[in-house]
Amino acid sequence: MLLLIPGPVQTRPEVRAVMADDIAPWDDEFRAEYAAMRPRIVAIAGGTPGQHVALPLPGCGHMVVEAAVRTFVPAGGKLLVIQNGNYADRLVRLATEAGRVAIPLKGPDTEPMAPERLAAALEANPGATHVAVVVSETGSGIVNDPNALGEVIRAAGRRLICDAVSGFGALPFRMEDHPECDVVVFTSNKCIEGMPGIGFAVAAVPALEAAQGNAGSWLLDLSDVYRHALVNGWGSFRFTPAVQALRAFRVAMDLYEAEGGQPARLARYARNAEVLYDGLVALGFRPYLEKRHQGPIIVNVHQPADPAWGFKGFITAMKARGVLISNFWNTTTPTIRIACIGAIGEADIRFALDQMRIVLAEMGLGRQAAA
Ligand SMILES: *Cc1c(COP(=O)(O)O)cnc(C)c1O
Repeated sequence: MLLLIPGPVQTRPEVRAVMADDIAPWDDEFRAEYAAMRPRIVAIAGGTPGQHVALPLPGCGHMVVEAAVRTFVPAGGKLLVIQNGNYADRLVRLATEAGRVAIPLKGPDTEPMAPERLAAALEANPGATHVAVVVSETGSGIVNDPNALGEVIRAAGRRLICDAVSGFGALPFRMEDHPECDVVVFTSNKCIEGMPGIGFAVAAVPALEAAQGNAGSWLLDLSDVYRHALVNGWGSFRFTPAVQALRAFRVAMDLYEAEGGQPARLARYARNAEVLYDGLVALGFRPYLEKRHQGPIIVNVHQPADPAWGFKGFITAMKARGVLISNFWNTTTPTIRIACIGAIGEADIRFALDQMRIVLAEMGLGRQAAA
């Protein structure tokens, strides 16, 4: 099956193969293997050794997003959230339910947040100590530029929390260039192309040290994960991790580095997205985003208005032809969401477009009808 979904993504067989062994996380061999992974993760985040640390948390991405919010924003503290998409809506909800005050800076999910709007919002909200940014908005496919927004945050003397989950490893952002950034979070199963099961935070050490006691949760306290590593070693865990997924992540990092790291991965995904966007337009679909706002991670097109169209039937027929596409959407109007990430290339995208052409014809949707 070809997965064209934004996580868990298509993986390489070498990554899946290492999941087959029974191993124990506290075994000395695995501890060494795991300890050696952590500086490599910091390096992918563009962090500085000694100044930034990699902190894993078993579970899904939203857990580590909540952990980041709880750890760096004290209870009752104010967090400005750039809210221009469905994943930012989730961030507002989880921050609010964690007892933090989320101040939304709303924008349409069809364009990135303008740095000038953020600057004005920070001026109007002097009490907001932190800004949370969803970098690649997995709902619509826009990318909020953390480099430009980070500069604004730094100038305003505030701190940045980056939900980089869907773009980490592909989109350029180096923590060493962003002293305003407390933390970048991501997962094992998106652009690094590992298996699902682990959330990661790469965090700034001084911010972690200042954050002790903030979380109001032992499990979701990243400063406790850090302290545990200081006391017990960088190969240690607080609780049983998804150990096979961690080992698979190590193999995924090997492949990532061999491919050429961030620039190579971005180039492959950007090519996938370009071929997909143009191919969908050629099939008669209307894109959700203008091309200038289209990011390299997710492409959405509007669902056809034609009475012959059926979303479920389309997804099922594509699956029967070997292509798995999300059976839901996270935009304001009904769309088809197709991911460009994972261990896939241009040939896979072209294969998927060919299958779509056949399925649309079977549904009785001609080129015009699909628009
Ligand atoms: C995938 C993703 C998450 C985490 O999703 P989980 O299902 O909890 O792993 C969070 N934020 C963004 C932007 C994502 O793309």
